[in-house]
Amino acid sequence: MNIDLKNLRKNKMTKTKYICEACGKNEIYNHWHLIDKSVKNVIYKLCSDCIVGLFLHTLKPKEYFRLLKNGHDDEEFEIHGDFYEKDTGEAWQPYTLKDIKKYFLK
Ligand SMILES: [Zn+2]
Repeated sequence: MNIDLKNLRKNKMTKTKYICEACGKNEIYNHWHLIDKSVKNVIYKLCSDCIVGLFLHTLKPKEYFRLLKNGHDDEEFEIHGDFYEKDTGEAWQPYTLKDIKKYFLK
């Protein structure tokens, strides 16, 4: 299991409004700071739907490519090449409902 939710830190609410970096639709007021071993302190400006998609590796191709367009790098762990096909943006290893029950709902 690669996801360590302890490493996800949510900033305090800010007055600054952002548009989600993945879906490009939802307005947000938070940044999510993800700290992992490969890339230090990556900041994601994602809505709650997309932060879940990021962790479950279920982002849609448009969302994956929008993250890259918004300055993210496919070397970042949660969106690296084992999880998303670089040319099509298809998710390789999305967590299934069974996985979610096994890993997240203990
Ligand atoms: Zn979103």
